[in-house]
Amino acid sequence: MKLTDIKAADLIRGYENRDFSCEEVVKEYLKNIEENEKDINAYVTVMAEDALKNAKKVDAKYQNREELGILAGVPVGVKDNIAVKDVKMTCSSKMLENFIVPYDSVVSERLKKEDSVIIGKTNMDEFAMGSTTKTSYFGVSKNPLDRTLVSGGSSGGSAAALGAKECALAIGTDTGGSTRQPASFCGLVGIKPTYGTIPRYGVSTMANTFDQVGAFGKDVEDAALLLKALEGKDLRDATSTGNISIHENIDFTNDEAAIEYLKEMKIAIPKQYLDMNLNSRVKEDFDKAIDTFKSNGATIEVVDMNSLENIIETYHILTNGEISSNMARLDSLRYGHRTEEYEDFKEMFKKSRQEGFGDEVKRRIMIGAHILSLDLAEDYYYKALKVRTLIKEDYEKVFKNFNMVLCPTVPVLPFKIEDDMSPVEMYQADLFTIPANMIGSPSISVPMPKVDGLSVGMELTGRRFKDSEIIKAALGFERSVK
Ligand code: GLN
Repeated sequence: MKLTDIKAADLIRGYENRDFSCEEVVKEYLKNIEENEKDINAYVTVMAEDALKNAKKVDAKYQNREELGILAGVPVGVKDNIAVKDVKMTCSSKMLENFIVPYDSVVSERLKKEDSVIIGKTNMDEFAMGSTTKTSYFGVSKNPLDRTLVSGGSSGGSAAALGAKECALAIGTDTGGSTRQPASFCGLVGIKPTYGTIPRYGVSTMANTFDQVGAFGKDVEDAALLLKALEGKDLRDATSTGNISIHENIDFTNDEAAIEYLKEMKIAIPKQYLDMNLNSRVKEDFDKAIDTFKSNGATIEVVDMNSLENIIETYHILTNGEISSNMARLDSLRYGHRTEEYEDFKEMFKKSRQEGFGDEVKRRIMIGAHILSLDLAEDYYYKALKVRTLIKEDYEKVFKNFNMVLCPTVPVLPFKIEDDMSPVEMYQADLFTIPANMIGSPSISVPMPKVDGLSVGMELTGRRFKDSEIIKAALGFERSVK
């Protein structure tokens, strides 16, 4: 087994036993990056020098038996919309192509405090708008399972980096599925915790009331370990909430105990999802997953959730409204791309934004500005807010009797890189991931066993602040299908 095949939790155990050093591990990862990156394109910035320097520091700490953080020596890839001090943060946009960020996000502070080794900044859809990484100014990140496929999006670079063994853990963000969907496409575990549990100070915002930082791991234990390092209140983010102690009473070491967790679980499946025309492979895996949960003692029932029918339209009206307002700060005045020739400041704004943003970002800004203007706000934006409340109420009703909702993470298989999909076609594929962001719930994608080299993710969406329930269920599921 190569050092880069070892999962994060085992790497830490290996360091503790002095089986290998952090420097050796980081060197192996950098070698993989050198060999694969030209083709995979998972990173916008590789921080080789920093990573080696920090690896040596961690080794010295181990040698001197100093106290170490819970991610000591684990190489982590960080999505390029999250600030790492003195490193470029591009959001995969021409607008921020050369922007070096002068401060650390809370996420980076905590990664450093826990002694992880940040190895690079990962590629993404421009400003996190997309499902493929094809809207990135730096080109697509390929899927390590099949390089003719996309790695998903918007955190596709993080998933590709982890899948291609170019890091041991990766960080994404999730506004409507951006962590869970690429995890599903690349055969990994991806989790979006309860809204507010990881502070977003230093994370570039797409849509404030939807965004949450997410964690990728090779398996459930790894993803949960990363969450543990990141969660907890920070006063610099007014939406951040207290610590939720996701590791409380979860035994990751024992397969049988993990499978036992399934007996406690009451799981709902929306009737609307069962009636849908899913891709046949996804449907097959969904049926198998249902059988696995049932045969291990979980209770599964079908429920009616009418409001799910309007989920995609509602999401795009609300997020585009928030996007148009968030993107207004990128005016080339204080930072970001500035056009070369202009007569006055109005022309400067206009031309800089025209040159700096790609098509998908422009499309969403324009729709957002349109639906927020004058009377249209009543017709669209406020109406969509009401629908959001109905969706929340529907889930609350279900969560009175069930711990979680089960469905496939994505209704289709990973897209081909060469497929030219319309924006609306692409939006449709977010059907199953959006609800968790609408209602602020935790949600995890866990892979089914691979068939023909590809794996389909199953998604569990749980009650707010009960992240431990979906983690337990995903763990039990993972151990029963392995
Ligand atoms: N694919 C979704 C979108 O395009 C989700 C993006 C995200 O979660 N950042 O909006």
